[in-house]
Amino acid sequence: MSPTLRQQVLRKIPSVDEILSREEILDLLRIHPRAVVVEAIRKGLGRLREEILSRDNLSGSEETLLSFENIFPLFQKEIDSQVRPRLRRVINATGIVIHTNLGRAPLHPLALKQIVEVAKAYSNLEYDLALGERGDRYSHAEEILCRLSGAESALVVNNNAGAVLLCLNTLSEGREVVISRGELVEIGGAFRIPDVMKRSGALLKEVGTTNRTHLKDYQRAIGPQTALLLKVHTSNFRVMGFTSEVSLAELVQMGREQHLLVMEDLGSGCFIDLTQYGMEKEPMVQEAIETGVDVVTVSGDKLLGGPQAGIILGKKDILDSIKVNPLMRALRIDKLTLAALEATLLLYLEEKRAMEEIPTLRMLGLDMRKLKRRGRRLLKHLQEKVKKGVQFTLKEDVSRVGGGSLPLQELPTIVLSLKSSDRSVNSLEQGLRKADPPIISRISKDELILDMRTVFDEEIPLLVSGIEKALSQTNEK
Ligand SMILES: *Cc1c(COP(=O)(O)O)cnc(C)c1O
Repeated sequence: MSPTLRQQVLRKIPSVDEILSREEILDLLRIHPRAVVVEAIRKGLGRLREEILSRDNLSGSEETLLSFENIFPLFQKEIDSQVRPRLRRVINATGIVIHTNLGRAPLHPLALKQIVEVAKAYSNLEYDLALGERGDRYSHAEEILCRLSGAESALVVNNNAGAVLLCLNTLSEGREVVISRGELVEIGGAFRIPDVMKRSGALLKEVGTTNRTHLKDYQRAIGPQTALLLKVHTSNFRVMGFTSEVSLAELVQMGREQHLLVMEDLGSGCFIDLTQYGMEKEPMVQEAIETGVDVVTVSGDKLLGGPQAGIILGKKDILDSIKVNPLMRALRIDKLTLAALEATLLLYLEEKRAMEEIPTLRMLGLDMRKLKRRGRRLLKHLQEKVKKGVQFTLKEDVSRVGGGSLPLQELPTIVLSLKSSDRSVNSLEQGLRKADPPIISRISKDELILDMRTVFDEEIPLLVSGIEKALSQTNEK
């Protein structure tokens, strides 16, 4: 095609001012701020320009390309992308229950209700209703946390990484912390125990080897500079074979003899014994507290199934010293999180209810019968709506717990597999991500996999319409 023809077409693109004077745009201006509409027109016209430049052949299509009917949707699309929040709800069809990239734990309806209740009006966040004077924001969740864990005292901060930082800084700044080499873990997202320790001002004293650490290794490392013995739960991996680690109880005993503090970062600590529900053992918070350990830290949004938070539990005098650390202010928990956390913790007063109702725990506990039923429902609706060019199959597969918890636990599950005769699996996966709400799936052996464990029954209609739409789009190379 001649460059001059392309130039001619480009010159015919209307100006922003011309577009702004159209009747249809006046309608948009009634709904959206002028700046948004102008920006959308500028970007929309930019896209049109790109389209003209990328076409191999323009002859014949010039009229349609430049028609207002063709370019108006471009503006609408640009406006939508400007006024829509970037942080969005998605459908998790990956089968990874505690998915850090997808926001970890969906909250229980009572937690949501409590967020709204506290957020829409004033609250007693830092006000003591009994005394009618200034109160303490940390007091609200303390009683329930102590009741559930058996600890003397409790404190909540922004997240578990913050909890670890705060504890190490308070208890061992400028002094040595003894930790096994097998526990110098990286949790992901650049949270590495040695780095956090450095930032806290504590000096790392590593002992033992990757696979084996003995009590005598700790013994030899203890000196006048030692402040703390630290145990970190190796949440996201297991060392197998010729291994040996010192138990928390042994460390606590040694701490007592040597007058040293003992802390455990449990990571995903759980308040329920999951082995009762056919799962592997995950260390329980109550068991850790029972050993007499000084401090334990836990995440709020892993197995606990609450909002992002860091929970610190332990001896009263130790927690009192942590509470007055100026870092507390930088790491403090906000009222919405606190509202959701407290509501979630209250559900644990009845273990059975917690297992059945807290979304994270409920998903972990789903049995094949329920998963199959959900899969069949989805399949039925899809088969009614989508007939051509695609094959849906229900299959058995495995889900993962995720979030650095129970790394070896395999959860048998039911997945819906999608195979299209005219669409590549990658383009299908991409199409589902563009759905509203986006559907996050996984690819396995050239099939698109939707795991029934992590989608909710209420999401079935959204899944159906999202899949239907993705399949109706033309193949994007
Ligand atoms: C997940 C985890 C953390 C970090 O917790 P966040 O709540 O994500 O900040 C720290 N330590 C361990 C052992 C963990 O598993």
